[in-house]
Amino acid sequence: SYRPSRYVSRSRLKVSFEFFPPKNDEMEATLWESIERLAPLAPSFVSVTYGAGGSTRERTHSTVQRIIKETALKPAAHLTCVAATKDQVDEVIRDYWDAGVRHIVALRGDPAGGLGTAYASHPGGYEGSPELVAGIRAIGDFEISVSAYPEKHPESASIDTDIEMLKRKVDAGATRAITQFFFDNEVYLRYLDRARAAGIAIPIVPGIVPVQNFKQTAGFAARTGASVPDWLARRFEGLENDVATRKLIAAAVAAEQVLDLVDRGVTEFHFYTMNRADLVYAVCHLLGLRPEDEAARAAA
Ligand code: FAD
Repeated sequence: SYRPSRYVSRSRLKVSFEFFPPKNDEMEATLWESIERLAPLAPSFVSVTYGAGGSTRERTHSTVQRIIKETALKPAAHLTCVAATKDQVDEVIRDYWDAGVRHIVALRGDPAGGLGTAYASHPGGYEGSPELVAGIRAIGDFEISVSAYPEKHPESASIDTDIEMLKRKVDAGATRAITQFFFDNEVYLRYLDRARAAGIAIPIVPGIVPVQNFKQTAGFAARTGASVPDWLARRFEGLENDVATRKLIAAAVAAEQVLDLVDRGVTEFHFYTMNRADLVYAVCHLLGLRPEDEAARAAA
């Protein structure tokens, strides 16, 4: 009979953490507390997002630089095609290479006019994500992660269109896909099957978002095309003013999701941390991750 093992050996388990660049000193302090708490879990990489419209170019860069200087973590810098010429984007890529960054998360980005408006590439800019991936490949031997949308991107006509786009990105040199967050594991597993059937062989890592604030997450999900199951809403109902219980529920929900994926053979997870460590740390603990001794890590 089927018995969930709920266990992946540490050598096979891979996690990564996503952060966004802080806007002020207070946010910077929160981010660094989180990085310091999560670093001993030895993630395969930590990624730093790029603001809509390229608005955080400097802040993304300086956060990545600080990670290189002050930690043993491998940073991945997000980069989009929005509001910049190819030359400008190429310069950012070369600066990353010179700074020792060897991993870029390559994205088209949202339309300059905001979500809901039509996307038009910047004059003289990269056309879209496959072209950006090829551009990065031409500059250096980077690891290149790209996005994947198990529930399709809001602009996509169908899941098949999305899978074709992912295939184009792989053909251009992408080495890993990270998914938009989702709450129904069946959605992810179906997408994985379809991508594999389309000949896509790179890892398609599930993006997991611990629900720190249900209302906010639901709003974000609505904008990005991720569905929020009724059962999830019910789990958070009545907790609007009860932060402590909400946090316990959030940990339980995220743990249930990742452990179910483990039971189905998934060994790699990307966590959207929102720059907060607690929930992600707890879920990683349940996955079997323990802080590694600094000395052991340095030796490895
Ligand atoms: P793509 O994979 O290039 O396209 C997504 C889908 O949109 C395609 O499948 C295709 O069907 C459709 N599509 C694309 N172009 C066209 C077109 N010209 N005409 C018709 N349909 C088209 N955004 C940021 O600004 N900064 C970040 O740091 C960031 N990080 C992200 C990380 C992850 C893991 C994910 C999943 C998303 C991230 N995003 C980020 C959001 C992303 O920029 C938006 O979703 C954007 O709208 C699409 O960019 P993409 O590279 O995901 O799109």
